[in-house]
Amino acid sequence: MNKKHGIVVVGSTNVDLVARVAHLPLPGETVGNADYTTAYGGKGANQAIAAARAGGDVVFVTNLGDDSYGSALIPYFRDNAISSEFLFVEQNTPTGVAIILVADNGENCIAVAPGANQMLANDKIERIHAAIEQAEYLLLQMEIPYTSVASLIDYAYRAGTRIVLNPAPAMPLDPELLRKISLLILNETEAETISGLRLAEHDPAILAEQLHEMGPETIILTLGASGAYICSSTTRRSVLAFRVKAVDTTAAGDTFCGALTAQLTRTRDLLDAVKYATAAAALAVTKLGAQPSIPDRQMVEQFLETHCVPILETI
Ligand code: ADP
Repeated sequence: MNKKHGIVVVGSTNVDLVARVAHLPLPGETVGNADYTTAYGGKGANQAIAAARAGGDVVFVTNLGDDSYGSALIPYFRDNAISSEFLFVEQNTPTGVAIILVADNGENCIAVAPGANQMLANDKIERIHAAIEQAEYLLLQMEIPYTSVASLIDYAYRAGTRIVLNPAPAMPLDPELLRKISLLILNETEAETISGLRLAEHDPAILAEQLHEMGPETIILTLGASGAYICSSTTRRSVLAFRVKAVDTTAAGDTFCGALTAQLTRTRDLLDAVKYATAAAALAVTKLGAQPSIPDRQMVEQFLETHCVPILETI
């Protein structure tokens, strides 16, 4: 049998339409003089780009619309070293968009129109079974239908492919699925939703412990500027974040997930991968936007050379 190799990422692609405004409009109000930008986002695409820029061998599976965004995204993914074999195009359907208003005081409000992402269903997933069998890791999030995520997890588990799940946006998960996960990477909101515990009442270590008892081999609870907490049967560790000037934390978690999975395929050392991901995510928060902020391998290696603070703390 061939040795398993690389990462299959299955997930969403969105175009973020961002208007910076003086204040968020009230119902019925129009706010003029907005500063408008677009950037590519969507948790699946962010994580695929993060993994590819970290040097991972990435197959990205996503469902684009048959509009101008979809047409522009295909060469863009190719330019980012992502194979176009499983970039599906849904007829008569728009590409997913997130309409984001950001006020001068930093407040935002967001409407997501998932478009083609909602139609990444089992008819397409069956076409990627061979790619999943050959991959070392399958990396998933929750911006495509739940039933698709569930069938992907079942298939990968039977094929002996390790599953990394970032259960975002937060939603409760079937216990049967949790037992099949190798690595569950989640932020505080997602950890509260799945564990049923509240961080205001419990230490992060208690939440991570509870999540670990629900079945995944390893839990990585990310804590924003406070870093991350790792819990597995052999390790309990806090990993401090690097201190940087944060400009925009969009895609911090996605950069962390993609970079970590790519680094695992290179070194197979979890602590080394967490350290690499922590550096990549720190760099991502120093720049605006989702995918424009995701660093490449050279940037992360340079950062690690010049930021040799010991970041790992044993509990
Ligand atoms: P999410 O974006 O999914 O909510 P987090 O906010 O927990 O995820 O961030 C993921 C990781 O990104 C953190 O574990 C940390 O390593 C890094 N990170 C996030 N915010 C900052 C920050 N302000 N400064 C440095 N690193 C950060």
